[in-house]
Amino acid sequence: MRSGASPEMVVGERRSATKDDIMAGSARRPARRRTGSIGMEARDREELGRTLRRIDGRGYKAYRDLAGPWTFPTFVLHLDHVQGDPFASPSRVRVLVDAHHARFPPDLCRAGARELGASAYLARAFGLAARAASHRVGTGHGGEIHIETPGQEILEQTAVRLAADGTVEARFAVGLPARGRRVMADAARLLLLEVLPELVDRTLSHAAHDPAALRLHADTNEDAESLRAALRPLGLVAFVADGARLPRRSGVDDRPLDDPDVVPFRSPPSLHVEVTLPHAGRVSGMGIPTGVTLIVGGGFHGKSTFLRALERGVWNHVPGDGRERVVAVADAVKVRAEDGRFVAGVDISPFIDGLPLGRDTHAFSTPNASGSTSQAAAIVEALEAGATTLLIDEDTSATNFMIRDRRMQALVPKVGEPITPFIDRVGELSALGVSTVLVVGGSGDYLDVADTVVRMRDYLPDEVTSRAREVATKHPTGRAPETTAPLARPSPRRIDPTSIDPGKGRRQVLVKVPDARTLLLGPERIDLAAVEQLASPAQIRAIGRALALVAQELGAGPVALGDALDRVEAVIAARGLDGLDDRKVGDLAGFRRHELAAALNRLRSLRVV
Ligand code: ADP
Ligand code: MG
Repeated sequence: MRSGASPEMVVGERRSATKDDIMAGSARRPARRRTGSIGMEARDREELGRTLRRIDGRGYKAYRDLAGPWTFPTFVLHLDHVQGDPFASPSRVRVLVDAHHARFPPDLCRAGARELGASAYLARAFGLAARAASHRVGTGHGGEIHIETPGQEILEQTAVRLAADGTVEARFAVGLPARGRRVMADAARLLLLEVLPELVDRTLSHAAHDPAALRLHADTNEDAESLRAALRPLGLVAFVADGARLPRRSGVDDRPLDDPDVVPFRSPPSLHVEVTLPHAGRVSGMGIPTGVTLIVGGGFHGKSTFLRALERGVWNHVPGDGRERVVAVADAVKVRAEDGRFVAGVDISPFIDGLPLGRDTHAFSTPNASGSTSQAAAIVEALEAGATTLLIDEDTSATNFMIRDRRMQALVPKVGEPITPFIDRVGELSALGVSTVLVVGGSGDYLDVADTVVRMRDYLPDEVTSRAREVATKHPTGRAPETTAPLARPSPRRIDPTSIDPGKGRRQVLVKVPDARTLLLGPERIDLAAVEQLASPAQIRAIGRALALVAQELGAGPVALGDALDRVEAVIAARGLDGLDDRKVGDLAGFRRHELAAALNRLRSLRVV
């Protein structure tokens, strides 16, 4: 499918994008033919050179003659979308190298964890080489080469992929050079006929890489998958390997902290677990059991760093990251307070009931949640999307949501207090099969409800469960549980898909990701800063496309939110991320239903029926 005779090579040559195409970004419209020969075959490299000579100095739109496939000696270059002017988003291109030239071993190409690991390596290699080869020339974005480059996480992505048949495909963007607003052919020739082929040669073949490094990426990713699969059978929700290096360079730099003082992880003997992995063999580390686990310890002793490693443990990591063997179950969800957020029709009554002025909390909506209501909503939403483990840090929690101690119970009786604190629900959640890993430094009342207590001291964990039991017996809190009704799983919400409007102006779908924490969808801005498990802007872009898909495919009537998530998952399972965007774009990455739900739940236009 992805080699030589791909369908678009047979049909649509020399089609030029109309203005509507560019606006709607659709590649599926019938081609409007321009002058020139309409060949059945892709034109070759020499013809590309001649075409450039011919259009030299003409208006920028003449670049549209480049649209379509071009055969080079070792690859086919597709110019899928030619930018309309030098300042517009750079032109979208794809390069396909067939198996005969790429020569990747079959075990790296087979769909699954190995291919994803190897592809992430190639995307990163291409990204580094592209950055070096990218030289701005003339007006606007001329000469630039951009590819979505993976970070520390190995995600399914569309920038570079190995296909099962051994073909490798890279998708990226190039700025076609202009002098003023005219075609700058000499620079374009350099870019397309020299720089690009060299970039392809240096990155998209097996021979271009250290085979051991490439294989290590595949092996590491496969090991991480099998480690995660081992968790449930062992009764664990997470695993942190001995020797793991958890701290990051900074809050905005996810690379490992490169410091001789980093303390490598070491499991306490009582939580020590061994797992045998396909490549690394026997690996030991700390297993976090199901149930309620507290991470306690003094300030600055590494508690939050530990929890953040678990949060990111729903993704796999590149070799050398330090968290390659830190994994959490796939349905672990970080929840936190997020005052000011939007909430649509969430039943937060298990946590908050009897608000002032008789406001109902069985279907609670607000454009401006408080700390406690936002955290309650986040938990109920996570359960609705199928979370099996909650990750909570007191640093990002609302205190009044987490605890009401004896003195506060005495001063403000339950009748005047809408909140049933989390401490009174965490055990019930556990009974429903939902585990919690909770970082607490301040509230010892939680010792009563913990199954496992881990103390972090000087960045190293120690299990202190029995000591915690003694303390709990010796110093009773005297507080009374405040639940009035038992906790049940939230009843599914039904959303009105027409309240998701992905279009803006003449565009049917407008998805933009201005920064790593914001999604612009149609007229709406979705703030994702508090969705901490999101690992890349490419995930946010894919989520934007997924929301558009929900709006377009399920637009007819009310639909259970869970069904909408299922639908997106089914599309991706069947067609990959390309199922979200048929333009063959290179800037999407895989996400979980939880991140999709988080974005949907924060969409301020969302209506719940
Ligand atoms: P806490 O949540 O317990 O207050 P943090 O997790 O915020 O502590 O960590 C405090 C500091 O220690 C951070 O700057 C972090 O990068 C650093 N740190 C965390 N773990 C380690 C470690 N294993 N080795 C060295 N430094 C660490
Ligand atoms: Mg902390």
